[in-house]
Amino acid sequence: MTIRPAAGVSFEAHIPVLIVGAGAAGHVAALACRDAGIDCAMLERDPQPQGSTALSSGLVPAAGTAMQRAKNLADTPALFAADIQRKAKGEADPLLVGRLSETIGATVDWLAARHAIPFELVEGFVYPGHSALRMHGTPRRTGAELMDCLAAAAAAAGAEVLTNAHVVALYADGDGRVHGVGLVRPDGTQERLGCDALVLACNGFGGNAEMVAQFLPEMRDALYFGHAGNRGDAVAWGRALGTATRHLGAYQGHGSVADPHGILISWAVMMEGGIQVNRDGNRFSNEHHGYSEQSVAVLQQPGRIAFNVYDDRCHAAALQFEEYRQAMALGAVRNFADAQALADAFGLPHENLARAIAQTENASPDPFGRDFAGKPPLAPPYWGVRVTGALFHTQGGLVVDDDARVCRANGAKLPNLFAAGGAACGVSGPAVWGYLSGNGLLSAIGLGRIAGDAAARSVSG
Ligand SMILES: Cc1cc2nc3c(=O)[nH]c(=O)nc-3n(C[C@H](O)[C@H](O)[C@H](O)COP(=O)(O)OP(=O)(O)OC[C@H]3O[C@@H](n4cnc5c(N)ncnc54)[C@H](O)[C@@H]3O)c2cc1C
Repeated sequence: MTIRPAAGVSFEAHIPVLIVGAGAAGHVAALACRDAGIDCAMLERDPQPQGSTALSSGLVPAAGTAMQRAKNLADTPALFAADIQRKAKGEADPLLVGRLSETIGATVDWLAARHAIPFELVEGFVYPGHSALRMHGTPRRTGAELMDCLAAAAAAAGAEVLTNAHVVALYADGDGRVHGVGLVRPDGTQERLGCDALVLACNGFGGNAEMVAQFLPEMRDALYFGHAGNRGDAVAWGRALGTATRHLGAYQGHGSVADPHGILISWAVMMEGGIQVNRDGNRFSNEHHGYSEQSVAVLQQPGRIAFNVYDDRCHAAALQFEEYRQAMALGAVRNFADAQALADAFGLPHENLARAIAQTENASPDPFGRDFAGKPPLAPPYWGVRVTGALFHTQGGLVVDDDARVCRANGAKLPNLFAAGGAACGVSGPAVWGYLSGNGLLSAIGLGRIAGDAAARSVSG
């Protein structure tokens, strides 16, 4: 990934706004450009745009949406911003938190009303760290469905996607103004496309083992569950251009990936009262701190595995997720008449497991500080899943201002470079514990629209 001098370079074609990457961030940026009447093209290395977005559950947190109002839910951007900062221990950029929490509600409404993305409010349980029901997802609750809908919307809006277009170089001048990009086709053919503004929407570095080892050493040997093509190109270009990067140690992990099936088990089962035990049948953490940091807690257990244990009520809450239903079909999710049967099946000491289940009765203060009040204690029959921890995506990246403009360390903005989604530093603070559920698509969809709007404004003068 290089920066090449732009002087004297001729480009085969010129498109006002180019967007590197065609995941959620790229598509939403493209929709914003098209709504502003500006021509744009997404450049995507894969034969078909998928990205981590298609692998995700596709759930977008947003406050103040029409869907919340229709249910008379009291939620505000200020409440959402406070939740983000509480989780990030106040270490997220307050300007960006303010802008994202204030605009994401209108962005979800805009995608639903103008671009026919069939968002629904996800009901039944509140995600960890959120003080309101504010997750929005498409009917099947899958990122693949969200990507299909975004692709259809982009096509209808006239936003072009060039697939099999691996961007390998940016052409820039001494001021950091980007004049175009160089891309390579699968057969090795090289092309150069010129632009007036460039949006980096090529996510973070979860697919780059060296960067993961350098910045996220605790995840070095963990399963990477995101898109393999996200190799940290935005960070590499940004650094070569002299831009600032921040919070490269931040990421979303997940402590509930079925092992060995490799399928996500919704955290709804924990929020409704489920627990995680290790091979010794003991709980080892407060499961309500968040599924992200739980990845590390699970990987620290014997054999790097844990067991989700929950009952019918929790199971019912998870059934709305297609992935959960798939996990059932694969045999990852198993049902047991009682704790003895579950312990026998997974080889757990029964006495310890029974003690762990008894902790959900809330009779004495929880050793890990979890408050079990508000949910009934677990009752047989039980459900059990063997799980491990995984890395989902990185949250650190290029520093952007609240218009998604890429900044230098001294705060100066690059003339025409924008970043959105995992390419930009998100709002999760410096480490795994700062990730509030949904911060990934908040950055992708929220910053995607902001970047697309700002890039369109910049080229329309
Ligand atoms: C299993 C899983 C579940 C998740 N669930 C949720 C959830 O429910 N809610 C939530 O908020 N977040 C969730 N996330 C995180 C979320 O998926 C990401 O934060 C989000 O999809 C990032 O969007 P993006 O557009 O930045 O990146 P992506 O969707 O990954 O798109 C980036 C695209 O850029 C392309 N690209 C990369 N480099 C180049 C290059 N040099 N040239 C051309 N193209 C390039 C890639 O091929 C890719 O298609 C989940 C993640 C995983 C893995």
